[in-house]
Formats: sequence, structure tokens, C-alpha cells
Amino acid sequence: MIDFKKTEEQELLLESLREVYKRGNFDDYFKECDKNHQFPEKAADMMVEAGFAKLGIPEKFGGTDCDFTTLIIVAEEAHALGWPSLCWVNQALQVDDILAFGSEEQCKKILDLGLKGVKPFTLGFTEPQAGSDSSAMSAKVERKDGKVVINGHKTFNTAANRSPYMLCLAREYKNDNPYKDFSMFLLPMNLPGIQIEPLDKIGNWMMQTCEVYMKDCEIKESDLVGVAGKGFYQLMKNFEVERLLACAANVGMARCAYEEAIKYAGVREQFGQTIGSFQLIQEKIVDMKIKIVNMQNILYQAAWKKSTGQSIMIDSSLVKRYTGQAAFQVIDDAMQIMGGIGYTNDCRISRLWRDQRVYRIMAGTEEVMVHTAGRALIKEALKG
Ligand SMILES: Cc1cc2nc3c(=O)[nH]c(=O)nc-3n(C[C@H](O)[C@H](O)[C@H](O)COP(=O)(O)OP(=O)(O)OC[C@H]3O[C@@H](n4cnc5c(N)ncnc54)[C@H](O)[C@@H]3O)c2cc1C
Repeated sequence: MIDFKKTEEQELLLESLREVYKRGNFDDYFKECDKNHQFPEKAADMMVEAGFAKLGIPEKFGGTDCDFTTLIIVAEEAHALGWPSLCWVNQALQVDDILAFGSEEQCKKILDLGLKGVKPFTLGFTEPQAGSDSSAMSAKVERKDGKVVINGHKTFNTAANRSPYMLCLAREYKNDNPYKDFSMFLLPMNLPGIQIEPLDKIGNWMMQTCEVYMKDCEIKESDLVGVAGKGFYQLMKNFEVERLLACAANVGMARCAYEEAIKYAGVREQFGQTIGSFQLIQEKIVDMKIKIVNMQNILYQAAWKKSTGQSIMIDSSLVKRYTGQAAFQVIDDAMQIMGGIGYTNDCRISRLWRDQRVYRIMAGTEEVMVHTAGRALIKEALKG
């Protein structure tokens, strides 16, 4: 059986996270940063100083060893406190990618940035014509006069304006099997030929998401990440981890909204009684709580599988689909409980409502999660 009890070490970590958050008095600061579309530098610096960026980076690279489940519950807790999504200081995904596929030199370079809480690279996968269908990517890498040159147009690159590198997937070969056409590179974002343009989106205003144009960008052979021609398979591994981390944000944001709404239900009076005494409001609260517990269970089980070296190929899709929708419903119900005030930018729930919506789209849409998990489940059943 799986034991979901947190260890003493995990409890201490969460306690210290809450303490730093309380000391920083971040809620008003985040509201201001959100309004001004600014990354919350001051809050991030405090968390880095408290050691949260180091978690999960191996000790030999200057970090603090810790398992994947711990990274998940810490990320969940940060979002439950009100930390803005896409802005968490721990770079677990980038760390996992580079440790899995990078050379020693690349690991050192990327993990050094991770230790400082800097997002070392933006993910350069989506292109205008290649969203859910990653195999339609057309960014190209070519060898010209002994040089390695990349040309292409990536889009929806989160943090492209503040990341020193892009983990860029580019077409290198033309095989019968298109999945073998791609290689992965670490592209320095300050190369001549790179042009970055921010997108105007409906939420997640504290972190920019951009278009990136790459024109004759010259890189080195040593910028190849992993194995030439295996880039697509490496991307699939990236997605598994990215999805679980997105789910930690989903669960945290849902908890944040729930906790605000339930307190409000207990004090807001209408018709001479608290709105929490109406059964229609109680029904929402109960269904929200059930969803939160279910989300935690499905997420922790997948995180435990990853921590213990088991495959999360199917689980990551199931968790992503379920928590994306369930968290959205919880936050939407929280807004409903708050009434008009929930729809104003003074209330944190409005930000959660705008920001969480993207997790039903990014890192694989909820429809594509059916496509990936559905096929795999049937295949697994037929294997017996
Ligand atoms: C804020 C934000 C940040 C992002 N950050 C990054 C990033 O850092 N790096 C990066 O590379 N990408 C990033 N993305 C891109 C994101 O991963 C894509 O938007 C997503 O994969 C969907 O691709 P698409 O937008 O082209 O939609 P499409 O693939 O065009 O899908 C449109 C609709 O068709 C549906 N659909 C597509 N295929 C199928 C199918 N086989 N079966 C059923 N339905 C299907 C989809 O579910 C969706 O409803 C980000 C996106 C957003 C919005």
C-alpha cells in the first residue's frame, strides 16, 4: 500500500515555506506585480535565499538532494499559499531534463542557474503549425561550412524573455519514421538572429510567454542535448514530468481558492444568515473538497511512481486531464461562492481563475491526454 503520510523532513520543509511566505507578506505584493505584469522578483529572491531553488539539485552540483514527491508537495503548497503559477523558484522540470539527457558540462551550466532560481531554459517545442502534433515542427538544424545553424519560429515560449537558453527541438533528418527526425539543442538566447516578442494573454501576467524567431542562429556541436535523432523521445519524457508539475500547481491553486471561499461562506450574511448555512453553498463546498482530495490522491500516487522509478507514461496524462478540469471547477465554484467580489481583481480568486485555465491547454491539452492515455490503456489491456 502507498503511505501518504508526510515525513518529518517534509513537514519541516512545508513549515519553513509557510513561514517565509508569511514573513514576506506577499499577497499584496503579488497583486501589485500582477497588475503591473511584472515577475515577483522580491518574493522569488526570498525563497531562493531560504533554499527552495536548491531542492532536487544533486549535492555534487551544490544543491540539496530530495525526491520527486517532495518537490511536488512543496510546489503544491507554494501555490496553495498563493504563489503565482509559472513563477515558482524551483526549476524541477529543467533539472530533471538536463540530468536525464545533458552532458556533464551542460548539467553544470544549467544547474548553476537553477541554484539561483533562474529558469535556465524556456521550452522550445510549440510552433504555429505544431501544437498538439509536435511531429509537425519545422524548425531546422543544418550543417553549413562546418557550422551548426538553426532556423525556425517557436511560439508560446514561457519565460523566453528571462531564460538564458532555449531547449529547442529542431528537425535534423528526414526518415520514414518522422519521430526519428528531431534533435534537441541548448540554444543561447543571446545569439545574433534571435528575436523575442511577448504574447498578450488573459492570465499569468507575472510571467511572459513569447514568440521566438530564430534566423541563422549558429550553435556548437556541443549544444546537442542527449542523442541526435532521439529528440522527440526526449520530449515525451519531458512532458511526463512537466505534466505532474503542472498538476501540483492545479491542486495548490484549487486549495488556495477553496480556503478563501470556505472562510467567506462562514461569515458572509444574506437573508439574516451566513451563506454557508444554505445547502446550495454547502453542496459546492463538499464537492470542492472531494475534488481536492481526489486530485491529491491521483497526483501523489503518480509522484510516488516517478520517485520509485516506475513508468508514469499513462499516469501523467490521467493526472493532467483530471486535475486540470477539477481544479478549474473548484476555482469556478469558489468564485461563485464569493459572489460579485470574486469577480473583482481585489479578490485573489479572480487571478486564480484566469491563471489556472491555461493548465487545461498547456503541456498537452485535456483532449490530447485522452488521445495518449486512451491508446496506451487499451494496448496495456490487450497485453494481458
Ligand atoms: C500560456 C501558455 C504557455 C505555454 N508555454 C509553452 C512553452 O513554454 N513551451 C512550448 O513549447 N509550448 C508552450 N505552450 C504551448 C502549449 O503546449 C500548446 O498551446 C498546446 O500544446 C496546444 O497546442 P495548440 O495551442 O497549437 O492547440 P492545437 O493543437 O491546435 O489544438 C486546438 C484544439 O484541438 C484539439 N486537438 C488537437 N489534437 C487533437 C486530437 N488528436 N484529438 C482531440 N483533440 C485534439 C486540442 O485539444 C484543442 O482543443 C504554452 C501555451 C500557453 C497558452
